[in-house]
Parts: sequence; structure tokens; C-alpha cells
Amino acid sequence: MRHSNIALFVAHKGCPHKCSFCNQHIISGSNSSVTKSDITNAITNAKNSGCKNAQLAFFGGSFTAIERDYMQSLLKAAKPFVDNGDISGIRISTRPDAIDDEVLQILKCYGVQTIELGAQSMDNEVLALNERGHTDLDVVKSAKLIKSFGFELGLQMMTGLLGDTDQKCLDTAKKLAKLEPSTMRIYPTVVLKNTKLEKLYKSGDYTPQSLEQAVDLCSKLLCFFESESIQVIRLGLHSGGDVESGFVAGAYHPAFRELCENQIYQNLLKQQLFKMPKGNYNIFVNQSEISKTIGQKKSNINYLSRCGYNCKIKQDNALLKYEMKVDKL
Ligand code: SF4
Repeated sequence: MRHSNIALFVAHKGCPHKCSFCNQHIISGSNSSVTKSDITNAITNAKNSGCKNAQLAFFGGSFTAIERDYMQSLLKAAKPFVDNGDISGIRISTRPDAIDDEVLQILKCYGVQTIELGAQSMDNEVLALNERGHTDLDVVKSAKLIKSFGFELGLQMMTGLLGDTDQKCLDTAKKLAKLEPSTMRIYPTVVLKNTKLEKLYKSGDYTPQSLEQAVDLCSKLLCFFESESIQVIRLGLHSGGDVESGFVAGAYHPAFRELCENQIYQNLLKQQLFKMPKGNYNIFVNQSEISKTIGQKKSNINYLSRCGYNCKIKQDNALLKYEMKVDKL
């Protein structure tokens, strides 16, 4: 089923951590606190624009670490909308070390369905270098506890952090998949203004992934999670907020997922065609995959043409996602 959220960003003012990449204000696009009327307005607006069966999502990274009375006041304001069916439930995101039995009991009482954990990496050196303040064991422990309470589990990981490598990211993905989350979000690191990474980048002590490197790695991660039947519900930072104005460096693109999907199809096309003679071909794919196969601004078709393969993409709905049939003309 298509995933739909009414998202509110709860900035963690006074957060004691100093994650290398974090500038909460820029990510959320807001410096003010979410109020009860923000909740009512967001749900009413979504309802008026025909949005059905959506979850109210309290994003921002550390929902269960914010001041407890404030956290409960937000949940209390949202609960009546769960009870009357205006929203299908509540979704929150938080830190792995901000989960325990007591807070999970509270979340259960208020109709929270889904908890997303910002794991970011399962490599303890990467976690320490980026000052996350938790370890891989915190991720494992909290993920298991969340599932034991019957919540849906979502996990988030980042690529290209300080001290990170492609291999560490692939290992992280394998360790996260073992925790059997229902959903994943993958965020290539973006260097934002007023962060530790900005200083390190400017002093030459940190090099973020290029867009091409991030697309190459994240397309592999997307294939991996899909092969494990784990839905990737986000690839790349969402546009909006103030990310564009706070951007310093790194792999940011407003259509990042599309670039990754294009890359997957380019790899498949290369596998199929490069063992065959150069020439003209018809390539058949499912209708839903045609634009990904062609690529943004015909990037895949143009690339193949430069390699000596002139391809026309045609529809064959008997083929599944990532399947293709190649006919030489
Ligand atoms: S990302 Fe790190 S620094 Fe930023 S709010 Fe979350 S825990 Fe605090």
C-alpha cells in the first residue's frame, strides 16, 4: 500500500548531542515548536485536500528524547484524530538510545503505530566519529524492544559519513536487514551550514560523497533492501525545508531516488547489451518501468547510444520490475 504521511517536524531544542551532520533548523525549515493547533491544522488541511488513510508523522530525529510533558501534549492532541479515523495512526522517529519500556508504554497508549530509529550506521567507529552518542548495540536492543511491543519498525541509515566507506554502508545495510524493519530510509550525507562537518569539509578533513558516488552506492542499497522485501520509503533528504539554502556540499538532489532507479536500469541494460554486438535493439520492460529505463533526460538511452547501442524502449506488461527482454533488430 502507498505510504502517506502528514509530517510535522519537532525540532529537538536543547538536544545534548552534537551529531556531526545535524542542523535541525535547516532540516525542518523551522525554528519554532510544533503546537496543538499545528496538529489540528495539518490534519484538517490534509483531509480537505483528499488525503486519506495517512499517518501523522512526528519527525525530527528525537521525539522520545524531547521534554516528556511536551511529548505527551503532542500525542494527546493527535489521539482524538486517530480515534475518529481522520488519520490511520501516529508515526514517530527517534534515537536508538531514547527507547525503553516506559516510553513505549506511553506511545502505545496514544495510538502510535510506527517507530523509526535513526541508526545512521552500524559501524561503531563511524558512530563515534560523527558523535552520535550511541552504539550499534543500542540499535539492536531498541529495535527488538520496539518489535516486542508490537510497533511497526522503521530504520534510517546514512551514507558517506565521516570515516564511512561503501563497504561499511553495505555491512550496515545487512545488519539492519537482520532486524527485519518494515521500512528503510536512506540518506546520503549532506554538509549543512553550522555543523561539525562543515568545519571539517572547509579544513579539508572531510570529503563528502559526490552525487555520482552516492547514486552508485544507494542504487545498490535499494536493490539489496528490495531483495530482502524491505520497503525503502525514502532515498535522499526531502526537498523543501531550508536544505537548499543551508547546503554547503554533498550528495543532494531533489529527485535523488529517481537517479538511483535510473542507475539500476542502466546497470541492467549494460549487463544485457554489452555481451551482444553493437547495433539497434528493442528493449521491453513493464510499463511502470519505462521512464526509469529511459533515464532522466534520456540519460540511459543517450549513454547506450554513445556505446554503440541504439535502443527503443517498449512495453511488455508480462515482465516484472527489473526484468527486461532484449530483441536485436
Ligand atoms: S541528529 Fe543528533 S544532534 Fe541532531 S537533534 Fe538528533 S540527536 Fe540531536
